[in-house]
Formats: sequence, structure tokens, C-alpha cells
Amino acid sequence: MVAQIQISISTKCLMKLPGRIKIEDRKLGRERNDGQAIFADKLIEIDPRLKSKKRLNIVLHEGIHILDPNLPELKVRAYANRLADLLWRDRWRRLEK
Ligand SMILES: [Zn+2]
Repeated sequence: MVAQIQISISTKCLMKLPGRIKIEDRKLGRERNDGQAIFADKLIEIDPRLKSKKRLNIVLHEGIHILDPNLPELKVRAYANRLADLLWRDRWRRLEK
């Protein structure tokens, strides 16, 4: 007879996801980045001069980095590109430019 053991762990606990991720606008010319993730602060800094679709892509990109810091850069780019394209085709748009 095989014993069944039920383990009850919430998905958030199991995955150790960070809490709410903040977004701040900052001109990032010196860093030569469109955006950057600051893991310790769960903060995304994004260049306010980006156009809407690029901004969407960068927000997703940096958000994925914070959610999964060990994910390889190429996968982060691929996921962000696919998700940004998906949301754009579903007609999601930024209210402010
Ligand atoms: Zn990246």
C-alpha cells in the first residue's frame, strides 16, 4: 500500500516571488539602457523617452528579470518580445505618452 501525503504550500511561497514591483521614470542615457531592474528595491527604472510599444517591452523585460533573476538574458528577451507582441495585438496601449 502506498501512503498519500498532501503538502499544502502556496504557489507564491514555493516560488519565492517578490512583492509589488515599482516602476520609476528616469533618463538612462549614461547607463546606455532603455530600462534597468534594481533587484534589492524591486524597482524598474525606465527611460521616459521610449515610445509606447518599446516601453511595454522593457517593462515586461525588467519585470521578468525581477521575477526570475536566474533566467538567461536570451530567454528574458524572448518572453518579453512575445508578451509585448501579444498585448499589443490585443490592443493594450499606454494612456500617457
Ligand atoms: Zn535583460
